[in-house]
Amino acid sequence: MDTMVNTISVEKATTSKIHDVDFDNLSFGNTYTDHMLVCDFKNGTWNTPKILPYGPITLDPSSKIFHYGQSIFEGMKAYKDDSGGVWLFRPLENWKRLNRSAKRLAIPELPESHFMEGLVSLLQLEKDWVPKNPGSSLYIRPFMFASGTGFHASPADEYKFIIALAPSGAYFSGKVKVKIEETYSRAANGGVGYAKAGGNYAGQFYPTQLAVEKGYQQVIWTDDNEHKYIEEAGAMNVFVRINDVLVTAPTNDRILDGITRKSILDIAKGEGIPTEIRKISVDEVVESAKNGSLKEMFGAGTAAVVSPIAAFGYQQKDYELPEISNGYATLLKNRITDIQYNRADDPYGWRYKV
Ligand SMILES: *Cc1c(COP(=O)(O)O)cnc(C)c1O
Repeated sequence: MDTMVNTISVEKATTSKIHDVDFDNLSFGNTYTDHMLVCDFKNGTWNTPKILPYGPITLDPSSKIFHYGQSIFEGMKAYKDDSGGVWLFRPLENWKRLNRSAKRLAIPELPESHFMEGLVSLLQLEKDWVPKNPGSSLYIRPFMFASGTGFHASPADEYKFIIALAPSGAYFSGKVKVKIEETYSRAANGGVGYAKAGGNYAGQFYPTQLAVEKGYQQVIWTDDNEHKYIEEAGAMNVFVRINDVLVTAPTNDRILDGITRKSILDIAKGEGIPTEIRKISVDEVVESAKNGSLKEMFGAGTAAVVSPIAAFGYQQKDYELPEISNGYATLLKNRITDIQYNRADDPYGWRYKV
């Protein structure tokens, strides 16, 4: 890894909020730690990051983030093991993806050293904030946006990269009922669907609200061309189990290349589970639900890890999935979290000690 010339400066918060936090009742992403990492892009270069007290930032009203939406983010977690060790899971994959997103939105790419040294320094300072309760973790939100100014529709000349941390409880999605989308699209060919760009999520909120009004919790997005193939859900990739085969759609420029998705594919192969990466038509899902070969459907992403789908709606009809207690979803979730929390061997070399 390249290293930074200057070391990261730390401005300590005058008081800590940690004693005000009820670590036994954490929700997801609503409590923030004492410090944040801030890194500025100015005069054509990324400056050395700084650690500052967590708090509001000031932006000029003409900052391009507000007008042209140059804004991207990542989502990752730090996990605490039984002896207090703190671990990351495949952090370089997040750095690489951040830069793929940056490139697509004409944002300057961030050097590996700024990302990794910044992240590790911040986590070492905040390690007491990594919760210990089962299933809980420190959610890490790196993000980058155009702070440079001007009403001209062109890329900004200044950017900010920030990492904020949120101690979070286990993410229980409960029984998720999803709607297979037939009208709206999340992403289009040649578009920005593969980037973790803020605007992709803004565009999902309204169709998701319509689905919620009809009694669903999430939308399964289909291809923008024909709405015939299932692609992904909210901020999760989708897996379908037909008989004993675990199937997921290939990534393309409409689908986000999830780190959980690819880790699950590797773990499944290691467990001897037959996997297929291919297009999944809605017709096939409906047919297999009708004839009983559809055994499981689940979403996969950093926040929930694996989120089992209990039912789906399509063309005004709902289809229930069978109740399986020890299916692939449970097995794969256990295997991946055992690696994340340092409870099992890590044959893939995915864990990263902070
Ligand atoms: C973040 C995200 C995922 C999951 O990616 P992970 O790296 O597994 O967290 C999947 N789809 C979308 C649209 C996402 O934003």
